[in-house]
Amino acid sequence: MPAGTLFIVATPIGNLGDLTPRALETLRGVAAICAEDTRRSGQLMSHFGVSTPLLALHEHNEDALSQRVVERLLAGESLALVSDAGTPLVSDPGFRLVRAARAAGIKVSPLPGACAAIAALSVAGLPSDRFTFEGFLPAKASARREQLQRLAGETRTLVFYESSHRIAESLADMRAAFGDDRPAVLARELTKLFETVLDGTLADLQQRVEADDNQRKGEFVVMVQGAGDDLDARLVEGRRVYALLNEHLPPSAAAKLAAEITGAPRKALYGS
Ligand code: SAM
Repeated sequence: MPAGTLFIVATPIGNLGDLTPRALETLRGVAAICAEDTRRSGQLMSHFGVSTPLLALHEHNEDALSQRVVERLLAGESLALVSDAGTPLVSDPGFRLVRAARAAGIKVSPLPGACAAIAALSVAGLPSDRFTFEGFLPAKASARREQLQRLAGETRTLVFYESSHRIAESLADMRAAFGDDRPAVLARELTKLFETVLDGTLADLQQRVEADDNQRKGEFVVMVQGAGDDLDARLVEGRRVYALLNEHLPPSAAAKLAAEITGAPRKALYGS
């Protein structure tokens, strides 16, 4: 009996029209659907007329359930995994199940769809060829501030998930860690009725959220532009000065002077 497939199925983050036809067909066709919250996923399934049985898979039973699911997959059944919203495993359970299935040689196949982080990046207008997904910041204020301090020099765009309970505090902490003027974008309630995308400096955004209760309601993705890469700028200038000096001085002396003048590392200039 060939093993079945574990399908990882993205579901909408708001607008139900975002469930793909292939996702629907797969959810109807599998033997069972592992879901984070069977009540919430049950509502989604009944909306789409999917009557496939649901299995509860959450943080506390993931290891035990994974074993049972792998046995069923090995016995030839195909199953799906969904989370409450968006793409499973992205700040959601599922990684232990996927790891167990892969370790057992099971095919794990993605059905891509909504993901709040990617949807938010796609409308932010911030550099997005490289970004770092930070998920949720720690709930405890001291741990959150330490984490933000560690990220202050990160040059890639930073992407955070945040809830309505902590959005105001997190923005205030980001402003303190990254500075008032750092460009940022706040994406709220994407694909839903009150979808709002605000951009400005961290100081602007924090003030707007503090001043308007409505801007603290719902679900948020906070994106912060990375720190300016000063080293890059110093290197460009260092190489320019090195080239000029090198016309009149030996390379080692030219590199030493160019490094002193521009602040670029001498070793990076020598022979450049
Ligand atoms: N797995 C999901 C995904 O693919 O985006 C994320 C699950 S995580 C538990 C939930 C968080 O995602 C929310 O607190 C919020 O930060 C973000 N989020 C989910 N839906 C959103 C939406 N419609 N608009 C903005 N952010 C959203």
